[in-house]
Amino acid sequence: MLWTASLCLLWALSIVGAPVNKQRQRVLLISFDGFRWDYDRDVDTPNLDKMAMDGVKALYVTPPYLTITSPTHFTLLTGRYIENHGVIHNMWFNTTTTEKRPYYQTQFVNEWWDNGTLPIWITAQRQGLKAGSLHFPGTASSYQGQVAMVREVEPLLYNYKNETAWRENTDKVMGWFRDQDLDFVSLYFGEPDSTGHKYGPDSPERREMVKQVDRTVGYIRNSAEQHGLTDSLNIIITADHGMSTVYRNGLVEEITLSKIPGFSFRDLSFHLVDFGPSGMLLPKPGKLEKVYSALKGAHPHLHVYKKEEMPERLHFAKNDRILPIILWADPGYVINGYFPVQFHKGEHGFDNQEMDMKPFFRAVGPVFHKNLEVGPFETVNIYPLMCHILGIQPEVNDGHLNATKHMLVTSATAQDVNFLRNVFTGLAAVAGFLVIVFIVMVSHTMIKNKRKNKRPANLKHLPEKENTKQTAF
Ligand SMILES: [Zn+2]
Repeated sequence: MLWTASLCLLWALSIVGAPVNKQRQRVLLISFDGFRWDYDRDVDTPNLDKMAMDGVKALYVTPPYLTITSPTHFTLLTGRYIENHGVIHNMWFNTTTTEKRPYYQTQFVNEWWDNGTLPIWITAQRQGLKAGSLHFPGTASSYQGQVAMVREVEPLLYNYKNETAWRENTDKVMGWFRDQDLDFVSLYFGEPDSTGHKYGPDSPERREMVKQVDRTVGYIRNSAEQHGLTDSLNIIITADHGMSTVYRNGLVEEITLSKIPGFSFRDLSFHLVDFGPSGMLLPKPGKLEKVYSALKGAHPHLHVYKKEEMPERLHFAKNDRILPIILWADPGYVINGYFPVQFHKGEHGFDNQEMDMKPFFRAVGPVFHKNLEVGPFETVNIYPLMCHILGIQPEVNDGHLNATKHMLVTSATAQDVNFLRNVFTGLAAVAGFLVIVFIVMVSHTMIKNKRKNKRPANLKHLPEKENTKQTAF
């Protein structure tokens, strides 16, 4: 018995003591708002090129529809299509009171975000990891009473293009990883979206902003190294949508709903238009067919759908928040309500099949292959990839690891590290138990031997039991 226990103990210790040389893996998810997949083609981007050499580059990625900021960012955080996660617009709205809140105010409308789908911060924290977020859409809200444990929400009227602030934010996030031992952080930069809107995607201003993004990518990687994170940090850089040039000044026949024969705003109880190329309408009771037939086919570049007839591929119908009539325009056009009030030179919000709506994707870190270019994939697949790297169980989602796992060096994922960690913990428990058994048995044997030796010579023939009894007195 003693021998068996000793052997078990030696075996367990030999396994537990074996070196587990796989490093725990962390993830930094970065979004540069509105960075179109091909923005590196007309600008020198040495740091993005270096990142592609050291890691993985996708030709492009496909965002979910509707291709606007808050909905597509929430897809990055949840792996769900927009109809499934419910953050269907940048603007919170109430069709009864007709109240609408703009992008920034909507960040603080908790029930808009917290409606059943958990972002990765919460899932990671529930499974024992530590998560943070800086300026990423959705950060201000709580989810089932929980928030990202380290978070920073930008103030109102924040200057999204200040490069010095970008560097400070980068160092802050790297400090979170190093000093607060975080496993996951999402980090948001508001450019080149604003510049793309204001000057258009083909402008010299946009090209300058891409150079600023590129310098920042170099800074981010350098900061990770300075903070001693190179062996454990995996950096994913992507965006929420692309950008497309808007045609105006008599170049095209603009889409203005009030000018369409048979259409009247009086037939609507609520509408969301004058918001780039997309719109949603809630007709008054009994007016749906009238509104629909007036708009359908009214302009060659205006798409009009009843919610239930939306193309399946867009995954933008099956949610109560989506209004009964959905409109979108072809690239080059925006949808105006009463008269044109939009003067951006660039817009997004178009069909996610349009190449101008596709974001870029880069990834670098210990788990990723080096110098690998992969084909396009949907951004719903980034969530299961991140969960896999972190070694956490994902929530129900619309993505699949099969779409992205070819980017990984299979032997280095945290899934394996976590598995080994579990094996390690299990074996440690077994070893602990065996040590106790070992100690008990050894002590027992020693006491027994001691007693045997102490027993008087004349009692040595007596049975063990009686001897024990006598000693007890
Ligand atoms: Zn955006």
